[in-house]
Amino acid sequence: MDVGNLKQLLRSFNLKPNFTYGQNFLIDDSVLQAIVKAADLFADDKVLEIGPGIGNLTRALCERAGFVLSIEKDPKFLPILKSIKKDFPKNFRFEIADALEFDYQKTFLSRHTDGSGFTDNYGNEHPQLSADPDKVRRSGSDYKVVANIPYYITGKIIQILITAKNKPSSIVLLTQKEVAQNIVAKPGDLSVLAISVQLYGEPQIVGIVPAKSFYPSPKVDSAILKIKLYRKSKYKIADEKKFFKIVKACFAGKRKQIHNTLVNNLRLDKNLVAEILSALKISPAARPQELSIEKWIKLGEKIK
Ligand code: SAH
Repeated sequence: MDVGNLKQLLRSFNLKPNFTYGQNFLIDDSVLQAIVKAADLFADDKVLEIGPGIGNLTRALCERAGFVLSIEKDPKFLPILKSIKKDFPKNFRFEIADALEFDYQKTFLSRHTDGSGFTDNYGNEHPQLSADPDKVRRSGSDYKVVANIPYYITGKIIQILITAKNKPSSIVLLTQKEVAQNIVAKPGDLSVLAISVQLYGEPQIVGIVPAKSFYPSPKVDSAILKIKLYRKSKYKIADEKKFFKIVKACFAGKRKQIHNTLVNNLRLDKNLVAEILSALKISPAARPQELSIEKWIKLGEKIK
């Protein structure tokens, strides 16, 4: 699809890009293909798409995956989504809903035990589309998220999905380039966002997407970010609430030395802090972005 095609499509459905919904539509087919490739889709995969909009990515997903559920907030896209439903009556569903309020707990139900297909949470049967064993790889209630969403909800959506009770197995998202770089950062450049994502999975930048790949063009460049979620968490944290309280308190003084923030922001005893840091071999002068996740976990365990 090029700008001309997109404008024609919008005109024929009497639509205009709505800034309050963060609508920047993808017009570069090579980017669409790169997103679909990054999602690594098989014929028995269930996909959750957020923000289908004009449905260009949606159609590409429906061609590959066993089942696609798309959640769109803007009811103006109803006619477009209905037209996609006509083309993919068996494996496409959509809901007009806010992805930030959606109940991900009931997103998908699992495959029949005899492998004959699966039932979605609407009670519909979905027999395997393909009997090709190379394409039918995995069973279970796993699902993959693929989305081009407004950038102001990126952080919230990631947080909701990675901490959901039924987490997806992977998330492929377009994000602002700097946000993706921030999320994949290593100790030295870590942030609260990077730590919270890396606790649950492995983030990776699949590609950079220039602003001109969208209409209307956003002000910033984008990246295709893929997060592979751990099936079994790599890290063990006894008290996550306490863990994040400490991490956030320290990052509130991002440029400050960690022993100062621990004493001032968490009101801990000076000598105790010195003792804990020395036991963990953390320099009292270290800045929060320098600590590895392992060190944060140990710090969390030592602080009562
Ligand atoms: N996926 C399409 C559209 C991207 S624009 C494409 O790549 O071209 C972002 C889309 O997310 C819009 O359709 C917008 O209406 C939708 N959206 C915005 N906020 C949303 C929310 N909270 N929940 C679900 N969809 C949302």
